[in-house]
Amino acid sequence: MEPILTLDDVSYRYEDTLALGGIRLEIGSRELVGILGPNGSGKSTLLKLMDGLLKPESGTVFFSGRPIGAFKRSELARRIAFVAQEQPFQFSFTVLEVVLMGRSPHLKRLQFESDRDIEIAMQALRTVDVERLADRSIHELSGGEKQRVLIARALAQEPEIILLDEPTAFLDIKYKMEIFELIASLVRDKQVSVVAVTHDIDLAALYCNRLIILENGRLFSAGAPAEVVTSEGISAAYSCRVLVDRNPATGAPRVSLVGRAERCAESQACAEA
Ligand code: ADP
Ligand code: MG
Repeated sequence: MEPILTLDDVSYRYEDTLALGGIRLEIGSRELVGILGPNGSGKSTLLKLMDGLLKPESGTVFFSGRPIGAFKRSELARRIAFVAQEQPFQFSFTVLEVVLMGRSPHLKRLQFESDRDIEIAMQALRTVDVERLADRSIHELSGGEKQRVLIARALAQEPEIILLDEPTAFLDIKYKMEIFELIASLVRDKQVSVVAVTHDIDLAALYCNRLIILENGRLFSAGAPAEVVTSEGISAAYSCRVLVDRNPATGAPRVSLVGRAERCAESQACAEA
């Protein structure tokens, strides 16, 4: 099947900083891809290029087989949903109003939402299990609830792909897991692809079909979670000593911070890390 997104030798520069260089990758349809990498490695920039918000300095981003630059912004807004990291709401919108914003790319100019749009928005809230919050102000939600509402807004767009920038940041462990469960269920049941930037390496390794690590603007590694999440790979990409073994309950790769060498309980494991 044709990939939904293809990055062909893509580079991007902010004035004097080369943020990404020579990125080649494909996102398949109905794939859940996790993007890992240290702070400043280019993850958010990569998502913005995938959404067509930024134009590459060189190389081409293809969406559904066509250069993304050839699409009208309005068409991309219907087909790609982007949940950015910072989502300040200046006004005290209700949750339903926020989710209805996801319908706006489907409306004609000056057209109001129809009953069908409201039904789609309510269905999106049901999917992420926060229907009960529909009339609540967006400012009166916990971090986990707000993240669900933002994912509901993305779903209301009825996109082919959802790009999520650190959807699990600031959430407690249960909410982090639930967000990953939710994302995985969307890929399974809603025929969407999801690309999620995250620092939760263990959860990404458990739930994603494929992982990509960026390091200093380059594609450091890509592949199945067990190929990418290794002691050597994670230690080198994050410049930090870690030990990767298997989570005994799930079999997925598990990252343990080793700390300084003198803190190693088992010097053999530490030497291998
Ligand atoms: P990440 O999301 O992995 O933390 P970013 O994509 O935000 O990384 O940033 C990659 C690099 O580009 C960093 O060096 C960052 O400082 C730089 N950068 C990001 N946004 C801008 C900007 N608007 N102007 C200038 N430099 C930027
Ligand atoms: Mg970022």
